[in-house]
Amino acid sequence: MKLWMLRALVLGAWLVGGGVRAAEAPWRSLFDGKTQAGWAATPFAGAGEVEVRDGTLVLNQGILTGVHWTNEFPTVDYELSLEAQRVLGIDFFCGLTFPVGPDHLTLIVGGWGGSVVGLSNIDGDSANQNATTSLERFESGRWYALRLRVVSTNVSVWLDERRIIDLDTRGKRLSLREGEIERSKPLGVASWSTTAALRQLRWRPIAAAAAAPSADAGRPPAPAAALPAETLTAMDRLVSGMLASRGGWDRLAELCDTFGARPSASPALDSAVDWILARMRDDGLENVHGEPVAVPRWERGTESVEMLSPRRERLPMLGLGGSVGTPPGGISAPVVVVTNFAELSQRAPEARGRIVLFDVPFTEYGQTVRFRTQGAVEAAKAGAVASLVRSVADDSLRTPHTGAMRYEDGVPRIPHAALAPEDAGRIAREVARGRPVTLRLEMSASERGTATNRNVVAEIRGREKPDEIVVLGGHIDSWDVGQGAQDDGGGCVAAWEALRWMKKLGLRPRRTVRCVLWTDEERGGRGAQAYREAHAAELPRHVVALEADAGTFTPLGFGFTGSDAARARLAPVHAFLGDRLGAGKADSRGVAADIAPLLERGVPVMSLHVDRARYFRVHHTEADTVDKVDPEALARCSAAMAAMVYAIADLPESLPR
Ligand SMILES: [Zn+2]
Repeated sequence: MKLWMLRALVLGAWLVGGGVRAAEAPWRSLFDGKTQAGWAATPFAGAGEVEVRDGTLVLNQGILTGVHWTNEFPTVDYELSLEAQRVLGIDFFCGLTFPVGPDHLTLIVGGWGGSVVGLSNIDGDSANQNATTSLERFESGRWYALRLRVVSTNVSVWLDERRIIDLDTRGKRLSLREGEIERSKPLGVASWSTTAALRQLRWRPIAAAAAAPSADAGRPPAPAAALPAETLTAMDRLVSGMLASRGGWDRLAELCDTFGARPSASPALDSAVDWILARMRDDGLENVHGEPVAVPRWERGTESVEMLSPRRERLPMLGLGGSVGTPPGGISAPVVVVTNFAELSQRAPEARGRIVLFDVPFTEYGQTVRFRTQGAVEAAKAGAVASLVRSVADDSLRTPHTGAMRYEDGVPRIPHAALAPEDAGRIAREVARGRPVTLRLEMSASERGTATNRNVVAEIRGREKPDEIVVLGGHIDSWDVGQGAQDDGGGCVAAWEALRWMKKLGLRPRRTVRCVLWTDEERGGRGAQAYREAHAAELPRHVVALEADAGTFTPLGFGFTGSDAARARLAPVHAFLGDRLGAGKADSRGVAADIAPLLERGVPVMSLHVDRARYFRVHHTEADTVDKVDPEALARCSAAMAAMVYAIADLPESLPR
C-alpha cells in the first residue's frame, strides 16, 4: 500500500472514531498594549487619529477611523477575541472586518444609531437587516468582551460570553459593504463617528473537529469511513493515467481552433456541440445526446468608442451582452465619471444627457461586477444617454472585458459598454484635470429572436445503482470574443476527459457518472434551467453535481455545499487529492452558476477551486484563447475531478444529503 492510501485510511478511521478533539491552542496576542506593532491606521477619508493610550488602542472620533492588521492571519478555523468600549459618540465602536475563507465579513457592534449588532453582508444584506441582526444596549465607558469563531460552515459571535450570532454560512453569499471598509481587509477594526478603545486583542487557531456549529452539538459525530481499497486503487489509476496525458489539451485546442467563440444561439456553438457529441460517441461514452434549450440570440454587430475631445482617438471597447445599440451615427456626449452608485445619485443632475463612466477599481469579482450588470439601469435613472464601465479585471494589457448586463422594466434602455481599465483611468484623470472628455459611442447590437441550443449529456452507467447519478460538467457556451478557452472550454473538457478515462481504463463505479455541458450560462443560464426541468424526476437521485467554471489553472481543491454528514464522508477523498495532487483544500463554497438551480431542489453541489491569480487577464476577452490554458494544469484539474466523482459514485452507501 502506498503512503497516500495509508494516510487516507488513517484519516477515515480517525473520523469514524468521532474525532479526537485537539487540545485548544494557546491564545496569541495581537496587541502589546504599548505600541501599534503589527497594525497600521487604515486610510479612510476623514479618519480620526489612532493612538495607544493607557494600554489601550484608541480610535479617535472621525467619520470612519480604523486600524488593520499588517501580518499574516488565517482565513478559517480560528477564534479571535477582544474587549471594546465606546468612549465618545453614539455609533459603532467595533466594526471588526475578518476573513471567512476567500470572503470577508464585518461584525458591527453598536451601529445604526447605537444598538445594532450584526454581520455585513449576508446575501447582500447589511448588518441591520439580515438573520444575524439583533439589538443590544451599550453603555459608554464600559468594556464589552467579544469573541468570534470562524470555521468553514459557521461564523459565531459571543458578547460577554453569550452567543449572539450563530450563522450557518453554507449557500450564503458573504461580502463587505460597498466602499471604504474594503480597506480593513484582511483583518481590521473601525469605528464610526465614535471614539473607541480596544484591548486584549488576541487569536488562536482551532482544530476543525472542534468546530461543529451549536445546532449539531448534541448529535453524534457524522459517520465517516475510509474509502474501500478498490475505490482508492481506481482513483489512483485515473490520476496516474490522466497526469501523463495531453489528450485533454489537444481536444480543447481543436475545439477552440475549429469553432472559435461559442456564444449562445450561434451557429458556431451548434457545430461545436455536433463535434463534441460525435467524439463522445467515438470515445465509447454511453447515453450520449443533446437536450434542446430555447435561447435568445443577441448580436454585437459593429461597435466603436471614439474620444472626440480633448483629443481624437479610438479606444478599445466591448459592448456588454444584451445591450441595445445606439442610433446610426452613434451617441456623442460629454462624460461624467463616478466611482460608485451613491456618488451617481448625488451627482444625478450632472449625469443628465451625458455618458456616465463607472471608473471602479477591481476589488472582488462579486463586488465590482455590479457596475457592469446594473450600471445601465442606474445611469438611465439619472438621465444618462449611455453608460460605460471600467472592465472588471485586476490586471490588464489594455483589454476590454465583456459580460452580462441587465435592464429594468420602466427604466429607459441605454447602451452599455466596457472600456479597458487603462482608458477608464485616463478619462478619469483628464476630467479631474478640468479637461472635459467627449466621446462618441456607436453600437449596432440588438436582440434577434430565439434559437434552439443543446445541453450535452454523456454517461458511464453505474454497475450497481445506475439510477443514482453523480453529475460533473462545465458550460459549453462562451462570450462572442476570444475562444472561450478558460471560460469555460477547459471546464467542459476536464469533465469530459474524466469520463473518457474511466471508459479507457475499464472503470465503472457503482453509480452513474454523467457529464453535462450546459448552454447559455453567460447569457442567463437557460441551459441549467432546462436541465433541471428535463430531469426533475431524477433529482432526488442526484447524489451531487460538480461544476468547473473558474478556469482550468492549477487545482487547489473543491468547495462543497451540502450536509455536514456528507462533508465528513468526503474527508478521505480530500486527503487523497491533497496527497496526490496538492489539491486537498476543502471549503463550503460549492455553488456555481449552472448547478445553483439543482441546489435549490436539494442536490448537494461542488465546485472545482483553482489558482485564479491570472484568470482576470483573459476572462470574457479576446485574449481567452487556448494558449492561456496550461496542458499540465488542465490535466490536473481533470484528474482531480475524475477522482472526486469516481469516489462519490463508488461509495458503498450513498453520500448522505
Ligand atoms: Zn464561465
